[in-house]
Amino acid sequence: MALAPSVQAALATSQACEAASGASAASDEARDDDSQRRLLDACFLGPYGENDGLLEKLVVEFLRDHVYWRRNFHPEDPPAIPTHAAQHPAYQGFEARLRRELHQLSAALKKSVPFHSPRYLGHMVSDLLIPGLAAQMLTLPYNPNNVSEDAAPVTVDMEVQVGLQLARMFGYPHDPARAECAFGHLTSGGTLANYQALRLALALKAFPVALRAAGVPDLDLPTDDWNAFNLGRAGAIALLDAWTRWLAAQDSATRRHWRARVEAERLEQLGIAGFFARHPQLRVPVVLAPITAHYSWSKGLKLLGLGRDQLQLLPEDGMRLQPEALEQALADCARDRQPVLLAVAVLGTTEYGTIDPVDAIVAARDRWQSRGLGFDIHVDAAWGGYLATLFRNADGSLRPLDEVRRDYRRFPQTEVHAAFAALAQTDSITVDPHKLGYLPYGAGAFVCRDHRAMALLAEAADYVFHTPSTEGYLARYRHLGQFIPEGSKAGAAAAAVYVTHKVLPLDHAHFGLLPRQTVLAAEAFHARAEAFAVAMADVARATVPFAPDSNLVCLALNPAGNTDVARANAFVRALHDELRCDPGQPLQLKQFFGSVTTLRPEALGDAHMRHILQALDLDPATLRTDGDDGSDRLVILRHTLMNPYLIDRENGISYIDLYFEHLARRVRAQLREH
Ligand SMILES: *Cc1c(COP(=O)(O)O)cnc(C)c1O
Repeated sequence: MALAPSVQAALATSQACEAASGASAASDEARDDDSQRRLLDACFLGPYGENDGLLEKLVVEFLRDHVYWRRNFHPEDPPAIPTHAAQHPAYQGFEARLRRELHQLSAALKKSVPFHSPRYLGHMVSDLLIPGLAAQMLTLPYNPNNVSEDAAPVTVDMEVQVGLQLARMFGYPHDPARAECAFGHLTSGGTLANYQALRLALALKAFPVALRAAGVPDLDLPTDDWNAFNLGRAGAIALLDAWTRWLAAQDSATRRHWRARVEAERLEQLGIAGFFARHPQLRVPVVLAPITAHYSWSKGLKLLGLGRDQLQLLPEDGMRLQPEALEQALADCARDRQPVLLAVAVLGTTEYGTIDPVDAIVAARDRWQSRGLGFDIHVDAAWGGYLATLFRNADGSLRPLDEVRRDYRRFPQTEVHAAFAALAQTDSITVDPHKLGYLPYGAGAFVCRDHRAMALLAEAADYVFHTPSTEGYLARYRHLGQFIPEGSKAGAAAAAVYVTHKVLPLDHAHFGLLPRQTVLAAEAFHARAEAFAVAMADVARATVPFAPDSNLVCLALNPAGNTDVARANAFVRALHDELRCDPGQPLQLKQFFGSVTTLRPEALGDAHMRHILQALDLDPATLRTDGDDGSDRLVILRHTLMNPYLIDRENGISYIDLYFEHLARRVRAQLREH
């Protein structure tokens, strides 16, 4: 069978890599490459349900195991449900109704979006990893509640371990025997993790001000409120640490007295209105985020009562935060004595997969800290967090740029490598196991670099730091409900993430094999898109508007001869209408699934935007910034390349080629119809 062009291209890449590394190494690598692929064969249920036997075996085995566990708790207790219960008409009536409803549910779910298929190139979701799915199903009947160890003696520890696993992936300190060890926990998703970042940053920023207001003696407190509010994370944690030690050295009556005085001055006690009324020289701090930031930031500021006015969106260039724009915003803040709570970097934007220059943001934080404007850096890596595995060795060290590059054609750009290398110096990170972690929904994660700050989120203020030890660390976080925004939450989700990270450790040789496939697919997709643009030149202009930073690739299109943005948008929307879920029609009528997004000059930069419009023969004057008909932006197709089977080497099929052939037919058909 003749190989499809993308399959050939993918093979050529791996052959070129082999040639570059010498002949004998080449055969080693070919063998490695093959065994890597075989390993991936076992990871998912598969597009065809190929691994049904494996999953079924696991589910049945561990369901039985659970039943034995019930029976062996007190085997002397007789069965409470009689053995003949199933013969009673009421029982049978119940079972009949249950079956009927389950049949209907199962039938209705056939309309679900086929995330598992390599024909699905839409949003940030794909097949589920068997280790996570099996661990979650196995755990469900035990129903642990990770709110605390009383309700989850096993899975709470797993959740804390997941935090350490993720911390290691990002380069944070992850040895709980060290005082400054990181801490992470799961959330319902990235939205809540971002909210937790806001909460923690605000608590830590305001705490030194409370210490001053309470007039705690003996501590080396900042000289005024502005300085207290601008200590930055390291300074604030050092002060918190000093306060804790001081408190521990007092007798119990003194301790109670001072703890109550400080508590009474805390922002968490007074509320935002009360706190700032008491400190009129301080303004409510702002959050600086790139314009492509996820809308969870807006939600978070509203939820925390800071208000959306306090979210300052910064312009970008090529979908990446502009360091100059950040610098300008910080200079303005310093001049206006406007405190800054967080600078947000996005590692893998939701719409474009682009990576902000985390290194430049870290440099800006350190520079402004020395000028007295302190703020924290939070990285919203809900999407791109797991790409960090591509940059990690099994021993936890960072892989150098040229070594990572050997695996790809273009990835990673120098800036992208620098961004991942700088993660270790940020203050906190959001990452979604339920996105690029290929796990079921309900699994986001928040990780902070230095766990000591978490004391300020504890519901019952406990400033007790046990002398740093693994046992003390674990004991503390077994009361997870004290620290997290939620209360009750699924221990099964923690088990799923933990087991997955154990089966596929978070380095390039294990878990990293998965994102590697997705980046290779994105490179093949990008190349194929360029060939598509040439082949379609007679009827349409097409261009990849910016080089993908990771595994999302966009495609801009315009019918030949058209110069009007509004018409180009209508054309792309019509194409997308055929690429989206349509519950009114049988699923099988859909050839492919894609998604759309838009390009705006504020995110792309004016020059870059003009360049793209020109490449599409669109008149920049028709991009109307004043209209409310959507013609202030350019609608483009967006493809998330997460499915590991986009290039099916087994059968020599490239779903990327099939997609572009389909798209070519649809473009021509649309043009005929209109
Ligand atoms: C998906 C996403 C979020 C929100 O995460 P949820 O899990 O949907 O709550 C936040 N930020 C970014 C960058 C994302 O991609």
